Amino acid sequence: GDGGLYASAWEANDWYAKLGRGEVGLSNVLPWYVGHKTLAGVRDAWLVGGNEQAKEVLIRYADWCHTITSKLTEKQWADMTSKEIGAPNEVFADLHAATGNPKYLELAKKFIKEPMVAALEKNDRSILSGKHANTEIPMFVGYQRTYETSGEPRWNRAASNFWDAVIGEQTFAFGGNSIWEAFINPAEYDKKLTDVCGPETCNTYNLLKLTRQLNEQKPAPRYTDYIERAIFNHILTSIGPAPDNGFAYYTPTRPGHYKRYSTPFDAFWCCVGSGMENHARYGSYCYSAEKDRLLVNLFIPSQIRWQEKNLEIRQATKFPDDGVITLTVKAAAPTPFTLSVRCPSWADSRKVALRLNGQSFGDPKPENGYVDVKRTWKTGDVLQLNLLPRLIAEATPGGKYVSYFHGPILLAAALGPVGLNPGDFHADGSKPFIQLGRKEMDSAKVPTLKGSPDDALRRIGKKDPNRLSYPLKTTGEPVDLVPFSSIGLERYSVYFPLVE
Ligand SMILES: [Zn+2]
Repeated sequence: GDGGLYASAWEANDWYAKLGRGEVGLSNVLPWYVGHKTLAGVRDAWLVGGNEQAKEVLIRYADWCHTITSKLTEKQWADMTSKEIGAPNEVFADLHAATGNPKYLELAKKFIKEPMVAALEKNDRSILSGKHANTEIPMFVGYQRTYETSGEPRWNRAASNFWDAVIGEQTFAFGGNSIWEAFINPAEYDKKLTDVCGPETCNTYNLLKLTRQLNEQKPAPRYTDYIERAIFNHILTSIGPAPDNGFAYYTPTRPGHYKRYSTPFDAFWCCVGSGMENHARYGSYCYSAEKDRLLVNLFIPSQIRWQEKNLEIRQATKFPDDGVITLTVKAAAPTPFTLSVRCPSWADSRKVALRLNGQSFGDPKPENGYVDVKRTWKTGDVLQLNLLPRLIAEATPGGKYVSYFHGPILLAAALGPVGLNPGDFHADGSKPFIQLGRKEMDSAKVPTLKGSPDDALRRIGKKDPNRLSYPLKTTGEPVDLVPFSSIGLERYSVYFPLVE
């Protein structure tokens, strides 16, 4: 009747009729949440894959969304967007950018949650506490996209302040946020991190998207620093080890706790879908380009083809096992451009070394976080950067816990599967809240440090020369600190409690 066709393994009930009446309840969340995934997939098939049929499908799908929601009142829109609906506004803003049709911008703007946007526009952060995090984060991806396509600054002010608030007050050591899926009251940070339920992977997936948008608009080292921290410490740790693998929904911050991974048939969550997509996105964070400048943002072995310049660059590195990054150029013809390599704040700036074709390039002077090498590049040119990651200790806001980093790499103590069975690490589909392990470790056995945050670095011994590992003195037996991403089916601590 309304031109829509619905296909699913489940009964549709009257989901789409409800959507037409502006009713999207918690038990009825799918129309927009799944709709956004479908809209985004069709958009990518068109704009990334170049499929013209996808363009037609997207336009007709968006027109249908416009028609069935055209009579909704403000109250009905507010009810509908109070639930977890993904970011349909992002796709409608994209469609406005691609077609120039103002109808799609109008539709994108209908998704505004006015009290939230108004508060963040004024940088009033108190509105966040207790809100469902993965309901809000994707909406801000859409708000920023609405700014990009409309030029109206309030959307950007709100999105930028939201990012600052989430990173500054809500984010835990590995780059994740939320406890029991909700933003915390920042005054309770130290208490909340001892909960058995940690940050959800989808939140970081969506926050990475927002970070990339803000960085493209106005590049700043804090954005790339977050992307790096979140990818190496949350995204990379969300995959379970072979042979059973799986993806983590929650990554507990609680000292001595553990993760549970999905299974292909009994436990396939939102964090499995976005969890797979995460690892296909590294390339989009690794490099960026301006007119005559190529930026190397992350240190990951990779290769990039810069089509506009008809050249390729290969990045070879064993980072974080060592700090040597080697970039080799392959160009159809000698090409003038600036190759910019990130020079992060975690590197010891006195020991940064840069070599061009084997010759020292002099004293690198980073600007806005990058070292620029401007010249005419030709095939076989090699630029090598040597970074020495510093050992960093970070105290929590309440000063009750400390975490350690080797450069951007979060270090953790692997504590073994104490009190756990092999089956505890994978969801089996039979229990309520199967994404979560609830067997707590005896707190007396959790590695604990004596002293204050100020002397945290003095408890660490010399790095093992053969691997990324540091000994840490505790009130009990010493423990080894290793990259968090190397820990799978066992208990771990990324936060260490401090006692007098
Ligand atoms: Zn999720």
